[in-house]
Formats: sequence, C-alpha cells, structure tokens
Amino acid sequence: MKKVLACIGVALASLLTLGQLQAKEYTYDELFTPDRLRIDLIFGGNDRAEYVYLSGYHHETTWSGPKKKLVEPFGYGDYVYELRYQDEVVFSKGFNSLFREWTTTTEAQAMDKAMTTSLWVPFPKEKMELLVYRRSSETGLLVQLYETTIDPQSKIIRHGRQNDWNVYTVQEMGDPENHVDLVFVAEGYTAEEMDKFRADCHRFAENLFAMDPYSQHRQDFNIWAVESISEETGTDLPHKDIWKQTVLNTHFYTFYSDRYLTVPDQTLAASLVSNTPCDALYVIVNTDVYGGGGIYNYYGLSMSDGKYNAEVFVHEFGHSFANLGDEYYDNSTSYDEFFNLSIEPHVPNVTSLVNFESKWKDMLPEDCPIPTPETEENKNKLGVYEGGGYMARGLYRPWINCRMKTNYAEQYCPVCQRAIVRMIEHYTR
Ligand SMILES: [Zn+2]
Repeated sequence: MKKVLACIGVALASLLTLGQLQAKEYTYDELFTPDRLRIDLIFGGNDRAEYVYLSGYHHETTWSGPKKKLVEPFGYGDYVYELRYQDEVVFSKGFNSLFREWTTTTEAQAMDKAMTTSLWVPFPKEKMELLVYRRSSETGLLVQLYETTIDPQSKIIRHGRQNDWNVYTVQEMGDPENHVDLVFVAEGYTAEEMDKFRADCHRFAENLFAMDPYSQHRQDFNIWAVESISEETGTDLPHKDIWKQTVLNTHFYTFYSDRYLTVPDQTLAASLVSNTPCDALYVIVNTDVYGGGGIYNYYGLSMSDGKYNAEVFVHEFGHSFANLGDEYYDNSTSYDEFFNLSIEPHVPNVTSLVNFESKWKDMLPEDCPIPTPETEENKNKLGVYEGGGYMARGLYRPWINCRMKTNYAEQYCPVCQRAIVRMIEHYTR
C-alpha cells in the first residue's frame, strides 16, 4: 500500500489525458468475469492531508455498467479510480464523497476524521493495479492518493451473499448492460411499512419521468428497490435529540446543517445493493422532514414525503447521477470554499470562465453578454449568469432559475439536460 500526501505541484502531467485513454486491444470478456467486485476503502485525514486504507473486497452480483466504454469520458469527480492491466488503463470512473465535502468545512482545519467509500469495478480475471487519484483543489489536476494490487484469486475477497433483503422490481426495461440500473433503498421503513415503500418507489419513478429529459428516456431505465427493514420509522434529527433505530443510520444535521441528510457510512449503503444490478444508488428516507443530499457516483437520498419531496429527489438525483452542481449561492451550506475560482470546476453546469469552452459556450449565440443580465426578458434564455456553486461572485450558471437552483424552477436548464442525456447515453449506447 502506498500513501501519498496530497499537495500542490505533484500532479502527474500524464494523468491529464486519463479520460481520453482507451483500452486498445482488450474486450471486456478477456479481462473481466460477468460479475463485479466491491472495494471498501476508508478515507481519512483533514483539510491538508488525506490517506486511503483498504478495508475489504466483496464478490458481488452481475456487473451492470457499460462493457464497451470502461473508461469514463467525462472528466468529472473530486476523485478518479482506475484499473491498470499491464500498464494500460482498462477501467476508470470519477466520484465525489462525503469525506471530501467534510474536508472543506471549518471542522477539518482543527481535527482528523475518517469515512468509508466503496467502489465498484468489473471482477478482474487477472491481477490488476487499483489506483485512486484526488483532484487537487489548488490546481484541478489529479494526484495519486492510493495504489494496490488486486489479486482475483486472493482469499481476502469475500464471496457469498451479504444480505437477504427482498429486491422488488419497479420497472424492468431490459438488459442491465445497456440500461441505467437505478436502485432505491428503503431507510426508516419498518416491516409493516414495505407496502408504503413500494408505493413510494413508484411515485418517485413517476416524478422522475415527469421531468425532461428523463421523460424521453423512460425505456433506458431499470428501477429496482431493496426492501431493507428498519426497527423504527424515520431518521435521526440530532439537533432535536431525536434518534431512530434504522438500517442505514441516516441523519439530518450533517456538518451542523439542519436540512443536510446523509448516510454516514457509505459502505453500509453499498452493501445493501450487493445482490442488485446498480449504476445509481438512491436512498428513500421515510420522513416528511425537509432535506436530502446527492454525491456523484456515491449516493443520493431525500425525504419520502412532505412538501417538495418530488423536487428535492430530482435535484439530488441530478447531483448523484449526472454530477450536476448546485446553481444556488445563498449562505446555507457549511462549506468554506467549495470551488477554487482559479480553476474550472468539474461540474458541467457551473463555470469560473477559466475554461468556458469545456462547458456550454457551444450552446450560446456569439453575442451573448457575460455576465448575462438577469432580466424578465432573459427568464428562459441560456446565458452566463453570475452566481452559482455557493458563491455570489466569480462563478456563473447557465439559466436564471434551474431545478439545480430552486425547488420552484419548472425544469432543469438546457445545460443540465444535456449533461443528463450524455450520462444516460454513457450507460445505454
Ligand atoms: Zn441547470
């Protein structure tokens, strides 16, 4: 195991092209079995240094991701992980994490913490190197954080079922290999409330497919539901001294924010979907208290009931599935400096104008003023509006009021819609 301190200036220039590298000669079947491997890691540290430790390997069900595009093309994520076989990148994927968010809070300046993160890869047939990179917040470049060798024959890989929760089919449109497999996980539902969970899953699905561009892509989604049972209904509200016995230990008041609902142990959430095809993990929390969270290729979650439950679900799923950034900029988050204005953020719908060509410049008329004025006339016009990504100045968003900005927005803006379609096509084409 290698531990590399994340610091300025050690980014490897060769990694810039990571997203463009392709496995040249190998087919999926030459390198991987039909199954998937879950790699459980622990990320620890503070706002200055970060370490990664291996916690375990689990042999799981069928690999449901794309088998032809194993190297993700988007350049998204605070982290990227990859598999190398004979020095060639044969798989890579970006992700964000709760730990990385925590490192941007004031608390991370004063103490160390550790949190879990599980990563999925197709199950290798041969020994391969696993590398994890962290995107430097100073340079935007990827810095190697962790490396280990995965030996598929190793006895430290656990085989066998990890849970016996029933998996309910919300909709099955076809082969997981060329469909987006969305998995809803029950949290805070007792055994007596499983009928409600199934009904909630159908309601969530209808709310998703009522929105563009999902409305045009219903046939591209399989939706599964893990009927994980909790002892008690609801979730924890630490700021109100309310504590519930639930299967995922979700809680509000994450980073001391009333409405930030999270699963503190992501590996626990990952283990619940171990028998299910899964490209996107979404936890439905049985409560009407307002809140949620969404972290790219990690998980999304939100309240099942109450005002705006449909809007919050669609917003959080935008984060967790398509890496959409928040287009709002009030002071409601706990992040000190989430985006560095001297680099281009990796989310598709917020720009610092450092590399606007990589964003939605191609969708604008040549005479579009920057910043675009927020006038009534521009209400439904694509532009470059100042304010977004939690900052009122220096970051820009594409639309005056997108669903990634407010719950009363009618739709996702065209930039967010394009990003979602590209992600769906990544899994389906
Ligand atoms: Zn948008």
